[in-house]
Amino acid sequence: MSETILVVEDEPSLQETLAYNLQKQGYTVETAGSGLAALEAARRLRPDLILLDIMLPELDGVEVCKTLRRESFQSPIIMLTARDDEIDRVVGLEIGADDYLTKPFSMRELMARVKAQLRRTLLIRDEMERLQSEDYLRASAPPALQSARSFGNLTINETRREVTLNNQPLALKPQEYDLLTFFAEHRGQMLTREFILERVWGWDYIGDSRTVDVHVRWLRQKIETDSANPTRIVTVRGGGYRFEG
Ligand code: CA
Repeated sequence: MSETILVVEDEPSLQETLAYNLQKQGYTVETAGSGLAALEAARRLRPDLILLDIMLPELDGVEVCKTLRRESFQSPIIMLTARDDEIDRVVGLEIGADDYLTKPFSMRELMARVKAQLRRTLLIRDEMERLQSEDYLRASAPPALQSARSFGNLTINETRREVTLNNQPLALKPQEYDLLTFFAEHRGQMLTREFILERVWGWDYIGDSRTVDVHVRWLRQKIETDSANPTRIVTVRGGGYRFEG
């Protein structure tokens, strides 16, 4: 089963070149030449990846990208930019794109980015399936109905969005709180940085997995007895992190 890629480019010769090269690599390719045609094709085809030019007639690529993300379209979107000010729009604003390429680019570079994005999607899908099956096994245990979860002297009250340590409220930044609750929901499970980034920061975020490391470090300083020798959020060598409780 070959992956479907939607190529959105209004310049006929570039659209043709992109489609030709992607087909040669074994992908199924559909094309669109305007923003509205892109939205229509994305909704109809649910492609595995979109190459999206920014300068398009009717509706530009930034608007197309934002609209699709609002509609919970989850496949990777690689923006094609021509000028520096366009790069600023893609990177500076949280429009929900996963990557961008600056024209002119080589086909080799394009293929590498496409492959990387498709591989990332696959890894995340696998990890979600694994976690869901682990959660399913746990579901035979009585569900925790109370909104507060305690891990020793650490308590997370999700109704009040409050975390206490030794009954003292902890000042956590929103992202730290989200990261901690995400860990708590998956206690004992190894979580990769990529997966954490995807689930806690979401599709709107263009960043790398070092963001996760930085927030883990901050969180450790707040919830670990000795942040240099963490026992709550442990590092899994070559993997990611595991919350022990
Ligand atoms: Ca264009």
